[in-house]
Amino acid sequence: MKTALYPGTFDPITNGHLDILERALGLFDKVIVTVANNSSKSPLFSGDERVALIQEIIDERQYANATVVRFDGLLVNFARKNSACALIRGLRAISDFEFEFQMALMNRNQAPEIATVFLMPHERYTYLNSSIVRELARLNGDYKEFIPASVYKKMTTLFPTTL
Ligand code: ADP
Repeated sequence: MKTALYPGTFDPITNGHLDILERALGLFDKVIVTVANNSSKSPLFSGDERVALIQEIIDERQYANATVVRFDGLLVNFARKNSACALIRGLRAISDFEFEFQMALMNRNQAPEIATVFLMPHERYTYLNSSIVRELARLNGDYKEFIPASVYKKMTTLFPTTL
């Protein structure tokens, strides 16, 4: 039984995140999406709201082997507690690399038995991130195609769209 964590801020979850989650579900028996509060990023949605949005998608899409939880501590401790052997991260472009490389090496320093697995999304998602979605929503842009319908619905409660 191989378990992986997929950590992130997910503010909000996008189709790029889901592309990575689906790939991870194909590789592992169980994937735990771990939602960090990330106060440094001053999130649009609270941790609980982000978890609820992801849970709704897991239910809708019947991802039988995925679960979602909030977690704000040291990730490798949570991985050990859940007997996870891997941390999943998405790599979109070279610009992601330096930060991800540092994180992966530090996590390996802390827990050598846990691997970081980088997955690449479909190229249509390589320029997509949550902050672009938030920016488009604020500025009344068209961002519907980048996020699941349930997330779009929630976004429009905060940013009513005239499109
Ligand atoms: P964090 O604050 O931990 O970077 P994010 O929610 O921004 O949290 O991202 C979580 C993970 O998902 C990261 O590994 C990131 O590279 C990946 N990710 C985010 N957007 C995409 C995307 N469009 N395609 C593939 N991976 C993505």
